[in-house]
Amino acid sequence: MDPAFDPLQIAIDGPAGSGKSTVAARLAHELGMVHVDTGAMYRALTLVARREGIGVDDAAALSRRLLEIEMEFVEGRIHLDGEDVSEAIRSNGVTSQVSQVSAHEQVRRAMVVRQRRMCRAARQGAVIEGRDIGSVVLPLSRCKIYLDAAVEERARRRLLQQGEPVDADRLERMREEIARRDRLDTEREHSPLVIAPDAHVIDSTALTLDEVVQRCVEHARAAVPAPVSHKEIHAWRFTMRSYQAAVWLLRLVFFRPFGMRVYGLANQAADRNFLFACNHISHFDPPVAGSVFRRELYFLAKAELFGGFFGRLIRHFRAIPIRRGRWDEQAMSAAVEALRSGASLMFFPEGTRKPAGRPGPAKRGLGILWEESGVPMIPVYVRGTDRLRRCLLRRERLEVWVGPPLRLHALEVLQKTMTAQQIHRRIGDLWLACIEELAERSEQEGGERG
Ligand code: C5P
Repeated sequence: MDPAFDPLQIAIDGPAGSGKSTVAARLAHELGMVHVDTGAMYRALTLVARREGIGVDDAAALSRRLLEIEMEFVEGRIHLDGEDVSEAIRSNGVTSQVSQVSAHEQVRRAMVVRQRRMCRAARQGAVIEGRDIGSVVLPLSRCKIYLDAAVEERARRRLLQQGEPVDADRLERMREEIARRDRLDTEREHSPLVIAPDAHVIDSTALTLDEVVQRCVEHARAAVPAPVSHKEIHAWRFTMRSYQAAVWLLRLVFFRPFGMRVYGLANQAADRNFLFACNHISHFDPPVAGSVFRRELYFLAKAELFGGFFGRLIRHFRAIPIRRGRWDEQAMSAAVEALRSGASLMFFPEGTRKPAGRPGPAKRGLGILWEESGVPMIPVYVRGTDRLRRCLLRRERLEVWVGPPLRLHALEVLQKTMTAQQIHRRIGDLWLACIEELAERSEQEGGERG
């Protein structure tokens, strides 16, 4: 269950007709992975609704029914309660209603649980395609691809795919239908179609299928982390003796007496610097999370803490004072400078402590640090720091989960249509989704351990 050793999950998102399904099927075949078509799953539910007379607006009935039905992919075809419905789900009736079905939050939540389960069961890795895969379903995926193409080209491909002649009339109708679905999918409130900040964007308008697949394969190969040895994972990387001694001391306290466990540590083994972005539930988060990484970390601490002996102490351990309640340009520049100079930073994107179990939302600082430093961001989830006494008694678990390093591949594309503020909000959303997934995995791990 260690997130550093997950099989590769390739997340492909994109608008209707961008070629996701064809590309995903080819990729899955070439790389020997399972192919999960989430659009087909929403379509299958729409088919059930139509057959059984369930209204597409009836979120409660739809999600109830979704819990009962079986869906399975068998050799690239979708089976609904054992029946192959691969053709039936492509009917015009289903196509025109699927976006309404998929807009319900309740339906999506139930669907996401199913999709994650399918991907995790695929030990050989999975290629999963849809609209919200990189942003919501698998935010921790190491390989995200956003496939795009001009709407005219997508309309042309859809007609060809359906075996219809491509004349001006049909083309115009198809273009309108696709544009309508794009609108519904990108403007809906829950999990709209978005470009994840760490996705590789491929515009396939002028590319052949082979070229697109080839690019995806290259991204997938680059995303597989190089194997690291035990020694590399646990290497001490310090320049200050006192810092190393302090971390050693903290580890002595947290590991044995409090039973701390760490997952995903190999994710930070590459000997380079990271922006560690951690949820914040207690004053003990900095020492706990900080003790996990055997390297010096800068961190931001509220300016009020910098008086007297304690102030000198934390300054010595690389704390940067930040004034809260307003934008502190000086503190943020110092943090960016540290990252740019090759140091790592532990950052708490929520700004202030939040009650456990309800992380987020992230403030703008995370986006600014990530964008301006260009350093890979690693989401970190801590649990139990707010109930240390219970951890001591082993009634609660003290855990730190380290996600994979995420890189801001889509920045240039996002900048074409979004303001800096919108981009930072999207980065915050991604971080939150990552923390939520790590929290979910921590819950499951607890269940498995009994
Ligand atoms: O990809 P496909 O066209 O088969 O998807 C059908 C519809 O399902 C989309 O238009 C969208 O409304 C919905 N969908 C979604 N989220 C996904 C996949 C599909 O909302 N992950």
